[in-house]
Amino acid sequence: MAKKTKGTGKGDKTRARRERRFEPLALQAASVVYAVGGAGALLMGAGAWSQFGGLLREGGPEPLKLAPYILAAGALLVGGAIWIGTSGEPPLRVGNAGVAVERGGVRRMAWHAVERIEWRDETVRVSGKDELGAPLVILASLKSQPQAAAWIVREARERVPAVVDVPDDATLPAPSAGAGTTLALEAPQVVGKHCAASGKVIAYEPDARVCPRCERVYHRSSVPETCECGALLADLHAPAAAT
Ligand SMILES: [Zn+2]
Repeated sequence: MAKKTKGTGKGDKTRARRERRFEPLALQAASVVYAVGGAGALLMGAGAWSQFGGLLREGGPEPLKLAPYILAAGALLVGGAIWIGTSGEPPLRVGNAGVAVERGGVRRMAWHAVERIEWRDETVRVSGKDELGAPLVILASLKSQPQAAAWIVREARERVPAVVDVPDDATLPAPSAGAGTTLALEAPQVVGKHCAASGKVIAYEPDARVCPRCERVYHRSSVPETCECGALLADLHAPAAAT
């Protein structure tokens, strides 16, 4: 029986958990939004001046026949710019903790909670459950989130290959090591979770054993040989911190 260690936490090496954050390309192309919006605003100004300038000052331009149309075109462009700027898809995150979407806070789907990853309409579609067990679908389209899509598929193939239903000839880019912004993650929340094998509630953090691949949580007394994701859990059986 290994002696209990104090002060070194769980005793085993703490793996650094990370994730990458990807902004949709529509947001990155903000200069386009500004250019379109700016052109629209100029047109609106010009339209307004030619329409109403004559009323404001003597010698101002006669209302042009076209003025209302210029005004309308300007308004359309401004509207378009607002639409481009706000209808973009939300930022996505991919890493140890699974796939997450930033839409009014971060909603996360752990790898073990992913039910299916499909390739549909040039989009990687991840369906499963969020942390609260509510159904969640996260979309990463080739157009606006090519690297998030590529990383989701790469990580999922390593972690939860059984749920990946993406053809090898999907037109995904290669995942680039420098893509996105890397963020550090806290240790997973385990207290209060149910052991994936026995259903027992984890009441005490040192009792938890977390699958390094899919982050399923087990009670240390019920760690199976193989996780449901396929990972061998022999390391998790090893007594903690016997040096
Ligand atoms: Zn696992």
